[in-house]
Amino acid sequence: MRNINKHYTKLKSISKNTGLVGPLFPRKYSFSPYSACQHACKYCDGRAEKYYVEGDFEKDIVIRENISELLEEELNKTRELGIISIGSGVSDPYQPIEAEEKLMQQSAEVLAKYNLPVNIMTKSVLAMRDIDIWEKINLKNGVTLMVSLTFINDNLRGIFEPGASSVEERLEMLKKFKERGIYVGVLAMPFIPYISDTKKNLMSLLKKLEEVGVDFIIPGALTLRPGKQKDIFMDIIKNNFPQLLGKFKNLYRENRQSGVPIYSYRQQVEERIDKIFMQSSIPLHLPHYLYRNQFPLYDEIYILLNHMQDLYSKRGIDIASLEDSLKRYSQWLIKEKKSFNRKRNLNYTDLEQKLLFLIYSGELIKLIKNKKMSKFIEEVVLERRTFDYIKLKLK
Ligand code: SF4
Repeated sequence: MRNINKHYTKLKSISKNTGLVGPLFPRKYSFSPYSACQHACKYCDGRAEKYYVEGDFEKDIVIRENISELLEEELNKTRELGIISIGSGVSDPYQPIEAEEKLMQQSAEVLAKYNLPVNIMTKSVLAMRDIDIWEKINLKNGVTLMVSLTFINDNLRGIFEPGASSVEERLEMLKKFKERGIYVGVLAMPFIPYISDTKKNLMSLLKKLEEVGVDFIIPGALTLRPGKQKDIFMDIIKNNFPQLLGKFKNLYRENRQSGVPIYSYRQQVEERIDKIFMQSSIPLHLPHYLYRNQFPLYDEIYILLNHMQDLYSKRGIDIASLEDSLKRYSQWLIKEKKSFNRKRNLNYTDLEQKLLFLIYSGELIKLIKNKKMSKFIEEVVLERRTFDYIKLKLK
């Protein structure tokens, strides 16, 4: 292990989302046992000033030593069903320090006692150490392993993700989790312009992921926030790919706070990714079959309608009416959630009952002003049918 400075601290609470569930990474609760990251990815968004990670991002590792006690305390009090997501954009839960601190192992043991589904996000094969316990939790509540992977060439991986596991190791881990019946997905982000966003790399990556049989891929382009994140990344390009430096400067010349590159590139790369990845039968979202029993019905519908909006739009299908229904549904849900959050004696099934009432009373059609969509929601909620993200129809 490279020299690091350990900083022990106590986390005050795990994070809870009481608002609308983000459709890209659907989750209700989340935590990270560490802050900062030894994987030292040169593009890491966690380096950005916005996240206030102090010290040397690759060496000053914050260890949240009370994480398992905190879980024990807080999971007792959760009111809503929903995925608990482990990991974040500013630290990997299975970075090398975990081998000695074992906070993930302890957390998994606590999670095994409760009834929440779990998502783990990592670039490290150290997660294999705990596969037996994740398998046990999966049988009870559902577990999804999300591995970040964009490179196929391990030399390139070594330049940009020096502390993370190799490409082969990550593919092998995905296979092993899949063999244990655990859903696996790949966070194919960020694709590095001119290096890993090429047609050749995208096709080779897709081929490998098809061989593994991943359940989904969530792709994304590189963002570079002005400041430390951008400066460190540009130094890597200057030292390793000097011929590309001018091109990178041009793509990120607008220095937007969000870090997005210029619009023409965004459009181009999105089209390329969609064109290649949509040739396969791997969904480009967390598929409905995976999250359908992991959230309350009202959140499941919200996530599903959001995903459908994107899926239809990518196929060139008019989404105006769907957009309008989603907007109306969201307004209803925001209002109901506000009231639910105020009344601490209610359980999520009380809010589910309100959705059921809308369906049974015929009020849903009036609310979303769309007969077809109302029928669709009815079939998902009452008949528990699942939407196929590839065929775009209910099963
Ligand atoms: S593994 Fe994730 S959190 Fe860690 S350095 Fe890489 S991108 Fe950042």
